[in-house]
Amino acid sequence: MNHPSRLVLIGHPVDHSLSPLIQNAALRTAGFPLEYSVLDVAPAQLRATLRTLRAERAAGNITLPFKQAAFDLCDHVTNVAERAGAVNTFWVQDGALIGDNTDVAGFDFAAHELLQSARAELPQRVALIGAGGAAAAVAAAIRDWDRTEVMIWSRKPAQAASLAHRYALTHAETDLLSAVKGAELVINATPLGLCDDDEMPVPIAELGRRCAVLDLVYRKGETAWVRAARDAGLPASDGLPMLIEQAARSFRRWLGVEPNREVMWGALA
Ligand code: NAP
Repeated sequence: MNHPSRLVLIGHPVDHSLSPLIQNAALRTAGFPLEYSVLDVAPAQLRATLRTLRAERAAGNITLPFKQAAFDLCDHVTNVAERAGAVNTFWVQDGALIGDNTDVAGFDFAAHELLQSARAELPQRVALIGAGGAAAAVAAAIRDWDRTEVMIWSRKPAQAASLAHRYALTHAETDLLSAVKGAELVINATPLGLCDDDEMPVPIAELGRRCAVLDLVYRKGETAWVRAARDAGLPASDGLPMLIEQAARSFRRWLGVEPNREVMWGALA
């Protein structure tokens, strides 16, 4: 396999990302002479940047706010990226820029791990809070589950409706408490929880007694929402398992080998 000339993370802003930490730890352990670096790209420069990276035979990740824009700029996208309508991983093959979405499998892994730890079956009903790129990856993953109904709530109802429209058994709900009613799994796909004074995506008291809580947000010491869910006896996880799994799957796409996930976790510690 021909390795990429370089590995980059494209975003704006991009300084806060943990991806360089975990990817560089895995690259060193696997013995690849590559450095994963960040590229802060102004939105107007995205097209030109991807063109240059294609000519250089580079590979990498795409993060906020470019996942949907990059989808439109790739020469080919995988079926998974097509289903999510967004690209978070790219590489060059036979001169063409290929886009994939490893957030989908990353979420799927994290959700299964959480439900297995709670000895719970795949849920019949899921509430999804937020309707951006991460929510699209969640909805795309859940479509492979067995007849799970998804209720999407977003503060912009039109966005929830437009996302719900793309997937079977997925509905937009204009009232947050109605969306979480009866849900066996509630997912936060908004940035709420990143900052100390953020309100919780939904009060834990509004969730059922056995509802699992999956926060896609991660921060040192976990999010207040995850801690509150655990205090109430609910199974809960933050976004780190998804972060590591999507990173590991990107690594395998670029380099053809599995990274050492323990090393990736260790880099975060
Ligand atoms: P995005 O495309 O910008 O979408 C964010 C969504 O959250 C939008 O629906 C947005 O609504 C909503 N939102 C933003 N601020 C809000 C607020 N104060 N109250 C209620 N809703 C709000 O972002 P994304 O890519 O989906 O990412 C969302 C979060 O998921 C990120 O903050 C990131 O931490 C996390 N994430 C984690 C992973 C992981 O591997 N763990 C992967 C991807 C994303 P509006 O359109 O109205 O602003």
